[in-house]
Amino acid sequence: MNGVQIFNSIINIQNIIEQHKDEIEKLDQEIGDGDHIFNILRGLEELVKLKNELFDKSVDHIFKQLGMKIMTTVGGSSGALFATLLIGMSKKYNSELNDLDNLSNMFLEGVESMKKRGKADIGEKTMLDVLIPVSDTLFQLKNETNNEKIAETIITVAVDGMKSTKDIIATKGRASFLGERAKGHIDPGARSSQLAIEAICNQFIDK
Ligand code: ADP
Ligand code: MG
Repeated sequence: MNGVQIFNSIINIQNIIEQHKDEIEKLDQEIGDGDHIFNILRGLEELVKLKNELFDKSVDHIFKQLGMKIMTTVGGSSGALFATLLIGMSKKYNSELNDLDNLSNMFLEGVESMKKRGKADIGEKTMLDVLIPVSDTLFQLKNETNNEKIAETIITVAVDGMKSTKDIIATKGRASFLGERAKGHIDPGARSSQLAIEAICNQFIDK
């Protein structure tokens, strides 16, 4: 793992989110206040701008700076939560470990920090319904050697998590004010997180 790869991933995430911009905007208009796509695109744009300054720095330093940037520039609950994810990830990087071990340790820590920060867990109709199963699966696959197989499995787990938000009520975030009326709508944060994960996984799949 290095800075060039990290920034390539951010650019890939930006592209996939851009392609699904209208859809994500509509999801947050249905059960939130409609700003989620704006928050996400703003954050990604700010991160891409850090490329020249950070690409040759250490992985933990990069993740920490990315998190701080999101924290200070992106509004909404998703700003604070994604910042917490990235800063949490920065704490577990260990240059002695291979990429898969590092990623699974880092992601587990990041997701745990996010759970604490948002006082939320799985089944509350948030992006955690994608991020928790992905983090658990990544951890279980630590000893798998076929990267393509890992990537395909993670893509499926993320899609299942995203879809699982559709028919439940929200107990966290703005959508919780809607009660039963939130049912039938996919959570916008779950969709944007699932797409981001898909963008990263696609880098490991030969198409
Ligand atoms: P806001 O809700 O402040 O307008 P955004 O629209 O940017 O912020 O983000 C909304 C998304 O944030 C939701 O779709 C949901 O996935 C996520 N979210 C909200 N509250 C929480 C929480 N406590 N924990 C995890 N994710 C949350
Ligand atoms: Mg919103």
